[in-house]
Amino acid sequence: MNHISKLPNIETTIFTVMSQLAAQENAINLSQGFPNFPSDPKLIELVQQALRENYNQYAPMPGALILREAIAEKMELLYQRDYNPATEITVTAGATQAIFTIISAFVRPTDEVIIFTPAYDCYAPAVEVHGGKVIPIQLKGKEFSVDWNEVRSKITTKTKLLIINTPHNPSGTVLSKADMLELSSILENTNIILLSDEVYEHIIFDGAQHQSAALYPKLAERAFITASFGKTFHNTGWKMGYCVAPKALMHEFKKVHQFNVFSVNHPMQIGIGKYLKNPKNYLGLPAFFQRKRDYFLNEIKDSRFTWKPSQGTYFQVLSYENITDEFDTEFAKRLTREYKIASIPLSVFNTNKEDHKLLRFCFAKTEETLAQAAKILNRI
Ligand code: PMP
Ligand code: GLN
Repeated sequence: MNHISKLPNIETTIFTVMSQLAAQENAINLSQGFPNFPSDPKLIELVQQALRENYNQYAPMPGALILREAIAEKMELLYQRDYNPATEITVTAGATQAIFTIISAFVRPTDEVIIFTPAYDCYAPAVEVHGGKVIPIQLKGKEFSVDWNEVRSKITTKTKLLIINTPHNPSGTVLSKADMLELSSILENTNIILLSDEVYEHIIFDGAQHQSAALYPKLAERAFITASFGKTFHNTGWKMGYCVAPKALMHEFKKVHQFNVFSVNHPMQIGIGKYLKNPKNYLGLPAFFQRKRDYFLNEIKDSRFTWKPSQGTYFQVLSYENITDEFDTEFAKRLTREYKIASIPLSVFNTNKEDHKLLRFCFAKTEETLAQAAKILNRI
């Protein structure tokens, strides 16, 4: 049979490539972003209880009510915005499914979607598989800052969607209040939908306030906000997440959602719903992860790598410009094979694959693992 690929240029995601190489080489895996410590036993118990209580059939299509209510309470507490659990919140199979479904519900062939590069790798393929056109805008310099004039200049009558991600994967930078106000004024009086990927909302450092689109009325009225329980509660393998949006947008989302998954894992929704009701279960996360960032950076302070401390996410970008000229994908693979430490090269997240001698390391690890990793990095 002959097929013409819908995604001829897409290869296996870097997360699979590097995690497989790490396993094969028996290397410390700081590449793919996942914690190597367990979820809170209280959360595990709540999920087990839900299994025993026989929440084992289909959940309601938009998600278990207890979880949608807990999400609404959290959005109100953190961002002072009301989302109606009945019409404005949907529980998804991770943020990935939410993102894909948003794009699927709105992007038509030839529509343009603005993304900022380096960009998390699930955005562009989802746009392209629906016939949309990705309009990449490169983040500038070592600060990975947005040139808002460039954004203005790239908006056309075909722009359907603009995707932001703060705290930002892979760079570990965050958008400021001034950034959000600029964006708000750019999008005002347009029909552009905003997809605000906020999966790292609880992993932000040095006392900064997470700039959710929910905080800005003119953004919130056009925004889907996506979130990931995997990132928040240390269980990426559960693939649980959600999105919120104003009613009219969510109505369109659900038309697709009901036919691409219908609903997601029921017992986990019940367990997470009960757990999320207690804000103590997420308010301590910034401090928890900041200790890990600070520990890791202190352990590598005498290495030849250079960096700006991560402002958010559980990733630290390290520059190796003082070490070698090698292309970052080659260097990341060599470090895995020869030094037994795996990372993610940043060039793969740039549309033009430009390499700035940067590697991303995940510090959502036990101190023991971070100490072992630092020992290796200090030898390079
Ligand atoms: N967006 C970003 C920026 C991510 O880093 C990830 C990975 N957690 C996702 C979306 C997908 O999240 P999930 O694992 O919940 O599908
Ligand atoms: N979000 C994770 C990361 O950035 C990876 C998720 C995945 O493997 N698809 O490392």
